Amino acid sequence: MTEPRPDVLVVSALRPGQMARLETLFALHRHDRAEDPDALLDAIAPRIRAVVTTGGRGLGRDIIDRLPGLEIVACSAVGTEKLDLAACRARGIAVTNTPDVLTDDVADMAMALLLMARRRLVEGDAHVRSGAWAREGMFPLTPTLTGKRLGILGLGRIGQAIAARAEAFRMEIGYVARAPRDVPYARLPDAEALAGWADALVVATPGGAGTRGLVSAPVIRALGPGGTLVNISRGSVVDEPAMIEALASGALGAAGLDVFAAEPAPDPALLALPNVALSPHHGSGTVETRDAMARMVVDNLVAHFNGAPLISPVA
Ligand code: NAP
Repeated sequence: MTEPRPDVLVVSALRPGQMARLETLFALHRHDRAEDPDALLDAIAPRIRAVVTTGGRGLGRDIIDRLPGLEIVACSAVGTEKLDLAACRARGIAVTNTPDVLTDDVADMAMALLLMARRRLVEGDAHVRSGAWAREGMFPLTPTLTGKRLGILGLGRIGQAIAARAEAFRMEIGYVARAPRDVPYARLPDAEALAGWADALVVATPGGAGTRGLVSAPVIRALGPGGTLVNISRGSVVDEPAMIEALASGALGAAGLDVFAAEPAPDPALLALPNVALSPHHGSGTVETRDAMARMVVDNLVAHFNGAPLISPVA
């Protein structure tokens, strides 16, 4: 890499091992830790050539517009809806994300939430811990998963990894995606048709404006009282008030949720429901995967400053 070391602004930190690597390769400026982030930007903004961020933090115009020399934004996440891609595109700023390395863990989380919600594991756990098992007897029977129909909304990398796992459960698989896939699964015309066909619906699309409210009240109604909804995509894709109402009234059977409209403090009405399994947006939250994502962020920066092709540019 050329000397002097390029100036890099960290707005959201990576795993410690890759932060140490960043320290050795670049002149780091810690916006994420600054007591006065504005004063930091005033002092160093013209020198900044790269930004490191995460999916949850993203990067808005407020900062992009203050960095006249910005060449690249490297984001630890697949979903880039919190990055102002239009602002980057307009200025020719490269953007990278971290696809593939997190696919298996997120697909595992989808299956875990599917089983938890459908087999009522949260309530079953409480039944044992509280002594209700001894006091009240057997836990109610639940619907099965094996052999049922799984609808996958968004059959991309993660959606296909979920399908591969569901095949081991001998599930019949259907999907909706804007373009057909070369897969042996039924392609349904839209989300409502998919939900009407399926016993369980897993949401695996990107978030952002293009998918906002895609799982609408009619989609939720179509899934029905025996249906299970799993969302590992983004909270914005599901009409959350409609989902809460349906879960409370029994119009929807159960839900397993890794993502929420409001994070990290989801709607209390949702938290009060017994028929939901909740996870704190932790689909990719394993040590191995977060390390791999962080490595990919730094590898992209190294490629950029060496004039090599980026490993995972966002189109
Ligand atoms: P991907 O490979 O790009 O897959 C997304 C799929 O969604 C694409 O195949 C796309 O197909 C489909 N899609 C997009 N818009 C759609 C629409 N309106 N209706 C139906 N399908 C649509 O991305 P991925 O790697 O699988 O990741 C998917 C998403 O998972 C990410 O964007 C992120 O939001 C979420 N995620 C969550 C976690 C977590 O921790 N919970 C972790 C990683 C990722 P078409 O273009 O053909 O429609």
